[in-house]
Amino acid sequence: MLISYKYRAYPDATTEARLNAALDTCRWLYNKLLEECNTTRETGVTPTMRGMQARIVTLKEENPFLKDVYSKVLQMVNYTLWSNIRALSQTKKRGRKIGKLRFKSASRYRTLNYNQSGFKIDWENSRIAFSKIGTIPFTMYRPYSGKVKGILITRSGDRWYVIVQVEQTVSASKREGRSVGVDVGLDSFAVDSDGMVIENPRFYEHSLDRIKKLQQSVARKQRFSQNWKMAKGKLEKAYDHITNQKNDFLHKLSRQYVDTYATICVEDLNIKYLKENGKSRGFRRSIHSASWGRFFSYLSYKAARAGTNLIKVDPRNTTQMCSNCGSIVKKDLSVRVHECPYCGFVVGRDYNAAVNIHRVGMEQPFEPVEPRPLHHVSVMQVLSMKQEAPP
Ligand SMILES: [Zn+2]
Repeated sequence: MLISYKYRAYPDATTEARLNAALDTCRWLYNKLLEECNTTRETGVTPTMRGMQARIVTLKEENPFLKDVYSKVLQMVNYTLWSNIRALSQTKKRGRKIGKLRFKSASRYRTLNYNQSGFKIDWENSRIAFSKIGTIPFTMYRPYSGKVKGILITRSGDRWYVIVQVEQTVSASKREGRSVGVDVGLDSFAVDSDGMVIENPRFYEHSLDRIKKLQQSVARKQRFSQNWKMAKGKLEKAYDHITNQKNDFLHKLSRQYVDTYATICVEDLNIKYLKENGKSRGFRRSIHSASWGRFFSYLSYKAARAGTNLIKVDPRNTTQMCSNCGSIVKKDLSVRVHECPYCGFVVGRDYNAAVNIHRVGMEQPFEPVEPRPLHHVSVMQVLSMKQEAPP
């Protein structure tokens, strides 16, 4: 399993200039290869990844700057291009209407990929030496373990980060202990069968005023001017801040679940979305589904490492079924309370679903539910949970 650790990096001015130059060269290469793929296709020939790989060698004669970039990094530019091409053709196959792959502008090309080689990590002094770039200090607030497969260097506004990709073996022994069912919802981020209700994070909404101001500031500046670039940098940073907050929240919440429970039951979101395909899905739902997907992916890799069981349950009827007696009680999205006309059981809609998810996941029979008092957990409480423990 490949796991990423992100650390803030502090290149000095000379190294930073080299990083920016390398990014610029890689971006040139990306766009050049993309352009040649397009023209090749127009002549009726299908371009190949290997063909483009070979092209890099001859391009070095055309653009001497390519020689200033570590060759494996150049190879990874081609690799990235082809994984983008593949992703696009898969979206096409699923019947979505989409255009061509876009050329990358400077603000969209922000990452150098050192795969397998070309770097040397000095943990004692927390520095990494990159071939053709130089040595970059970084802060290691969270140590990793396992074999390093590659390192990415990425720019975000005026900040730099290194992302260490580590291969880790999955823990084989499964733990024994408490189990829980977790339902993700719209009113709150999640509700579990132990009665914990996790409030919805509204990082974006909270920063909306600031984002709007920054957007206006960018719009007022003359394009590509120094001030425009600075304003854009600030806006980029504000977006990154929101992403970081959100990820921090999802990391901590999933860590809490994996640490507390030996078995976690969740709905299989893939099935859920397949079923809902065709029905109208609102914007609010779509932004939430991105967070849920990420939450489940964090849960699943953390669970795999800790030997925690993660059970994916078929979401059919988890909401409609009465968790107390098993009767189907139809309710549309606006009905937030589950009221069973058959057994008189009254409980919150999402809590009812969480209990069902738990019962189905653990393959338990129906038995009378002792409703627990709901315990509300704020986003701040989640964020103040301890930093992720080193593996
Ligand atoms: Zn009932």
